[in-house]
Amino acid sequence: MAILPIVEVPDPRLKTVSEPVGGVDDDLRAFMDDMLETMYDAPGIGLAAIQVGRPIRVLVIDLQELPEGETDEDKRIREPLYFVNPEILEVSEEVTTYNEGCLSVPEQYAEVDRPSWIMARWLDYDGNQHEEKIDGFLATVLQHEMDHLEGILFIDHLSKLKRDMVLKKLKKMRKMAA
Ligand SMILES: [Zn+2]
Repeated sequence: MAILPIVEVPDPRLKTVSEPVGGVDDDLRAFMDDMLETMYDAPGIGLAAIQVGRPIRVLVIDLQELPEGETDEDKRIREPLYFVNPEILEVSEEVTTYNEGCLSVPEQYAEVDRPSWIMARWLDYDGNQHEEKIDGFLATVLQHEMDHLEGILFIDHLSKLKRDMVLKKLKKMRKMAA
């Protein structure tokens, strides 16, 4: 496995519309393993293939939730999820707001409204097809990651004023780190 470099704004590759893959084979599984390792290392809870420079419709997600009542960060549960060629079939009218971040927009956060649940279809790590209703935090994360497949970032859901503020803060942060 390998940790891959993460593509960050304003890299134009992030605006790419990714292509569906033909199916799940060992090469793709090896790539998904690398994506997962890259995501854990970052650390993050979701990663789309384009964020490591490959314009294919593949995502990995692991919410790494703490068990109920647990406060020890080391006790987070790893439960990796793989989404190949995911599609949204239906969305709720009801909307949920989360303070979102993104490994391609480092250390910047903003509130984004998204449908509270979605009906989604995708292939998993073994190439098996799923069609399930997804709600809660996973629904938000999956929609955020699926946006990447269309070349959309969470900051694209903000007003131009708010988006410019986030990008300005990021520029300032990078300057200070340089
Ligand atoms: Zn993202």
